[in-house]
Amino acid sequence: MSYMKMAETRELPSATLGDAVAGVMGFIERGLPLPGRRDVPILSVTPERATALRKMPYEEYLLTFEWKDVSTAIKRAAQERCEICGELPLWLDVHHLTYERRGNEWWSDLLAACRLCHFMAHKMLGGKL
Ligand SMILES: [Zn+2]
Ligand SMILES: [Zn+2]
Repeated sequence: MSYMKMAETRELPSATLGDAVAGVMGFIERGLPLPGRRDVPILSVTPERATALRKMPYEEYLLTFEWKDVSTAIKRAAQERCEICGELPLWLDVHHLTYERRGNEWWSDLLAACRLCHFMAHKMLGGKL
């Protein structure tokens, strides 16, 4: 089934794109890191800065150079591909599997996702970001 068709019918990718997608979506649903991801901070951030980043409004955090560096690192590690469906999209988002370490995320806290898979993931999670 094409992406357009999937978007129209609003089905979860797990029902249409096979086991690989269902597998990754399962990890997202349970808030688990993807296999092989390291519990290691992506950036070196001082504890003071990490606290400031964690406390600022999320929209503000997304504008910081730390988030820019962290999200770029995740996209590069994914070789610019969606880690859910494997596509090479025009626009790649970075999804938080957990916000526990927001401001000083580990490699295991995030994954790269195309817009549609990211939308589907949040839909699956009940719309909570
Ligand atoms: Zn995707
Ligand atoms: Zn997300």
